[in-house]
Parts: sequence; C-alpha cells; structure tokens
Amino acid sequence: MALEDRTLSCRDCGGEFAFTAGEQRFYMERGLLNDPQRCPTCRATKRRERGDDQRALTTVVCASCGAQTTVPFVPRLDKPVYCNSCFVKARAATNGTEPGQSGTITATP
Ligand SMILES: [Zn+2]
Ligand SMILES: [Zn+2]
Repeated sequence: MALEDRTLSCRDCGGEFAFTAGEQRFYMERGLLNDPQRCPTCRATKRRERGDDQRALTTVVCASCGAQTTVPFVPRLDKPVYCNSCFVKARAATNGTEPGQSGTITATP
C-alpha cells in the first residue's frame, strides 16, 4: 500500500500539521491504528508536562560487551540491554526483530 503525506489538524491548538508517509509507516509498524491527535509542538508540550523529558538516564552494563551505557528508560529485567553498537549488531543478527533494549534514543512520533 502506497503511503502519502497527509495533513491533520491538531486537537489542542487547531493548527495543521503533516502526518508524513514515514510517520504513518512508523505508526503502522507499532500497530498504532489511530492518527496522531496533536501537532509535534503540542506533543512536545504534553510530553514535558508529563515529565517524560526529565526521565533520568539509567546507567546499565551492556549484556554483550560489558561496556557501561545509559538508557533513557528503566530497563526491564527480562530483556538484555545493549550498548549502541551491540544493539545494532544484535538487531542485524536477529533480522530486524527487536533483540532487546539499547541506549539508542529513537524519536517518538
Ligand atoms: Zn498543536
Ligand atoms: Zn556492547
């Protein structure tokens, strides 16, 4: 299915914002069926209000090479945590499926 950029309106400020094909793919890959309700600016504001941006980095030890790395979340105990480079390797080895957690900070939509 071909994806096209769409223009949505923000329910908070009423402004229009682009829901790009890349973002739509990002949503679909995560099984998110609903369109984003807010423009990026209002999403960032909401996130700040919830305190998500102030999450403390957790220092962890890479499950593969033993190097210390920091992750912007509290790691789950049932999954290995990798440093950035090992995460890339592990992801390549598992053919793109989620091998665990890493210090990679991915952009949230
Ligand atoms: Zn807005
Ligand atoms: Zn490592």
